[in-house]
Parts: sequence; structure tokens; C-alpha cells
Amino acid sequence: MKLLEQKIAQEGTVIGTDILKVDMFLNHQIDVGLLNEMGKEFYRLFGHEQIDKIVTIEASGIAIACVASQYFNHVPVVFAKKTESRNLDAEVYESKVYSFTKQKEYSVRVSKKYLQPGEHVLIIDDFLANGQAVLGLIDIIRQAGAVPCGAGIAIEKGHQKGRSLIEAEGVRVESLAIVASMSEEDGVKFA
Ligand code: 5GP
Repeated sequence: MKLLEQKIAQEGTVIGTDILKVDMFLNHQIDVGLLNEMGKEFYRLFGHEQIDKIVTIEASGIAIACVASQYFNHVPVVFAKKTESRNLDAEVYESKVYSFTKQKEYSVRVSKKYLQPGEHVLIIDDFLANGQAVLGLIDIIRQAGAVPCGAGIAIEKGHQKGRSLIEAEGVRVESLAIVASMSEEDGVKFA
């Protein structure tokens, strides 16, 4: 998606060799107009499939998924929670995820109320690196007896192994921008 690539090229910054910082439009401040175009593009890519629900992971996936839902007939958006809370229902599906950015393992949880057997679920997230967040969501969706129909990703770092791990699970991956390489000196190059 050209618009997203342009935004990354203009406003993204590379930290070290493997972190792309896009706080100014995606991860801290949010460009709602851009998210709207991303939502349309996800619909173009997945709109021919039956999608009953969108599942994402807090925090940055939530805004992207909610804007996209408007193009998918306003299907409910469920986000996996990263922190334990007395608010969360006792009955949850849970999966372990190794965080690429924080370099530690954490659990993600979804209440059993919000995923039903047989539901067709689209996963949406901001970044795809080594695929651990999306694999955790696939695991939770399958625990519920629901069907992961695809993973819609805003920014894929194509030099990392996420895509191959998710495709090995039989889940289609569509990314709106695919980074082929990046460095602090040369910036971002797209696939
Ligand atoms: P994965 O689980 O695929 O290894 O990493 C994806 C998750 O880590 C995303 O949900 C995102 O929050 C975070 N992440 C991975 N790489 C980057 C990056 O380069 N920049 C930012 N901002 N987040 C990233």
C-alpha cells in the first residue's frame, strides 16, 4: 500500500537493526485517515471471505482493527489482553507469547464468552516480526474451536520469519507494507 509506505519513509525511524519506530502515526499518535485507508485495503484483501469477528492484541492493534471493522459490516472486534485483571472473566483462553520488542514472554487471554466454535476470525495486528503474537492469537482462536481465516498486518518486516511460521499453520498473511531491509544509515527499503 503506497500511502503507508510513503508514511513510513517520511516519518518512521529505525532503531538499531531491527526496530522500526512509527509512534507518530501508528503506535502512540494515530493518523485516523491513514487507518481508514488501511481498513479499506484489508477489506479489499479479505472482504470476499466470511468474517464473523476480528481478533487483535492490545494495545496498538485495537485502533487498526476497529477502523477496519467498519468495512467488514461492523463485525465485533475482540482484543487479547496482556495483563491479568480482576475485571477479566475467570474462564479464558490463554496462550504464551514471546515479545520481540520487550524480549520476554507474556500471556495473552481472551474471555471464553467472546469466541464461539465455528466463527470465522480475521486477525489484525500492527507489526509482523517473528510471528509470535499472531501465533498466540491463532492458538487462542483454535482453542475456541473457531477458524482463523487470515492475518492482516499493517507492517511486515519481511526479513524476519513471521510469515513462514504463520503460513505453516495454514493461515493466509496479507501485509500492507513489507519492509525488505532497514538500517539507521539507509532508512527503510520495501519489498
Ligand atoms: P512478533 O510477535 O511477530 O515477533 O512481533 C510482533 C509484535 O511485536 C507486534 O505486535 C508489535 O507490537 C511488536 N513489534 C515487532 N517488531 C516491531 C517493530 O519493528 N516496531 C514496532 N513498533 N513494534 C514491533
